Amino acid sequence: MKILVLPGDGIGPEITRATLAVLGAADAAVSMGLEFETRDIGLASLASQRTTLPDEVMARIPRVDGVILGPVSHYEYPTRAEGGINPSAELRVVFELFANIRPCRSRAGLTVLRKPMDLVIVRENTEGFYSDRNMFAGSGEFMPDPDMALSLRKITTKGSARIARAAFDIARGRRRKVTAVHKANVVKLSDGLFLREVRKVARDYPDVQLEELIVDATAALLIRTPDRFDVIVTTNMFGDILSDEASELCGSLGLGGAVNVGESICVAQAQHGSAPDIAGKNVANPTSLILSAAMLLDWRGRRDGNRALVAGARAIAKAVDEVLDNPATRTRDIGGQLATDAFAKAICAAIRA
Ligand code: NAD
Repeated sequence: MKILVLPGDGIGPEITRATLAVLGAADAAVSMGLEFETRDIGLASLASQRTTLPDEVMARIPRVDGVILGPVSHYEYPTRAEGGINPSAELRVVFELFANIRPCRSRAGLTVLRKPMDLVIVRENTEGFYSDRNMFAGSGEFMPDPDMALSLRKITTKGSARIARAAFDIARGRRRKVTAVHKANVVKLSDGLFLREVRKVARDYPDVQLEELIVDATAALLIRTPDRFDVIVTTNMFGDILSDEASELCGSLGLGGAVNVGESICVAQAQHGSAPDIAGKNVANPTSLILSAAMLLDWRGRRDGNRALVAGARAIAKAVDEVLDNPATRTRDIGGQLATDAFAKAICAAIRA
C-alpha cells in the first residue's frame, strides 16, 4: 500500500513522525507492505515553492492508495493569490471527499462524562457554511461595504443525500441508529432540505432508526446522555463543532481519529488543528493522527479485501487502547508525563500481530 504523507504545519511534523513509527511497527508485526512518500505542504512549501499546496502533490493523490494529512495552520496563510491555499479544504473539494468520519469513544479514567460515549459523527465536508468550498467561483463570503459582511451557506440535495447514505451505511455496522442534527427550526429552507434528503435515504434503511435533533440540544445531550447516540449525521460546521466537543468530552482533542472519504480516495486527518501554542515542544498527543491512519488502513483493507491491512488497523487500535489505559503511558494533555516520541514508542511496543 503506497501512502502519501503530508506532515503539514505546527505540531504536524511531530505527530506525523509518531504516526509513521507506529505504522512501521504495525507493518513489521502483520506485513502490510506499506510504502511511504513524504512531500512538503503548508508553510514549508510556501517558503520553498511559493504555494502551500504544490501541483505535484495534487497530481500524486489519485495515484497512491491513501494519504496522511497533518494539520495545517491555514489561519496564518496569505491569500490564495499569494500562494495560500488551505490544503484540507482543497483536497476535500477537488477529490469530492464528502464524508468526514469522526468516531469518539470515551475511556475509563480519561473522560469527564458520567455515561459512556461511543459514537461516530458523519460530517458533510464539501459545502455548508465554509466559504472556501461552497462556490463554483469566488468566495462564499463578501463585504458589500466596510461595515457589513455576508456569508453564504450552501446545502444541496446531492450533498445531503450522499452524506446521509454514508451515515446509514456506517450505522448498519453498529447499533443501527442515526441522529440527524439540524437547525431547521430557524434555517428552515437549507436545513429543511437537508432533513428532507436524510428522510428519503432513511426509507432505504428500514432496519436503522432515524432520530432528528436540533443542534443546540445536541450540544447539551452529548454531555447529559452521550449513550443515546450511535451515528450523528450533520452539515459541515455543526459537525466540526460537535466533533471537537465530543473529542474533548472523551479526554482531549488529541484523541479522536478521522478520515475524509469520497468514492475512491481516503485521506487520514486528525480531528484537531496545528496547535501552534505547543508546536516543536514534543508534547502533542499523536493519538488522533495515529487512529486516523489506522482508519485509513481499515478503509483500504475492506475495499480491496486485504486482510493484512484490516488486521494492522486493529492491532494499532488495540495498542492505543492498552497504552491509554495505563496512567504511566499518557501524554500531558490527558494528565500524563510522556513526550510525543516516547508515547509513540510505547504504542509500538504494545503492537501485537
Ligand atoms: P487547535 O485544534 O490547533 O488547538 C486547540 C487547542 O487544543 C490548543 O490549546 C492546542 O494546544 C490543543 N491541541 C490540539 N491538538 C492537540 C494535540 N494533538 N495534543 C495536545 N493538545 C492539542 O485549534 P486552533 O488553535 O484554534 O487552531 C490552530 C490552527 O490550526 C489555525 O491555523 C487553524 O486554522 C488550524 N486548524 C487546522 C485544522 C486542520 O488542519 N484540519 C483544523 C482546525 C484548525
